[in-house]
Amino acid sequence: MDFLPPSVVNSLPPLHIQVCDWLNAYGEYNKGLVKLGGVSLKTKVKARETIFHELAHWVHLELPGMHPWVQAIKAHFEARTAGEAVVTLGNYAVTGLRDQWWEVYMGRVYNLPEEATHLGVEFPTRNFELLAAPNRFAAVWSKSPEAREDIYLALKGLYP
Ligand SMILES: [Zn+2]
Repeated sequence: MDFLPPSVVNSLPPLHIQVCDWLNAYGEYNKGLVKLGGVSLKTKVKARETIFHELAHWVHLELPGMHPWVQAIKAHFEARTAGEAVVTLGNYAVTGLRDQWWEVYMGRVYNLPEEATHLGVEFPTRNFELLAAPNRFAAVWSKSPEAREDIYLALKGLYP
């Protein structure tokens, strides 16, 4: 939490975290409630990555659509995927816009009403996950200028 600007943390609703052995996913986020699946707790790195992932959903989805960071993510997502068709994303059984994201899941599109303002739902999440695994962070940072642009927007963009 110390990573986030106090003005952002103070504007967010309370957060509840529940461990759900029955959950058939690493985690899920819905309106202030994070559910952590039992599978996410099998290794320390996966547990930390999942927590960072779901906390990113909390920050992103609970900030208003007019927040500069939320708007910047939407603009970035639209610019990078302009003219693309929705496709199946790699090995995931989900669809989205592929672009050249450093990880294909970042392009996921849900077709939810919230995406009118909060486009790029899985953009902050994948980048926040890097905070849980410094070696992976370094590898992605070295990958390409586009990867660095993504990380910079997701992590630094919250600070004015
Ligand atoms: Zn997610």
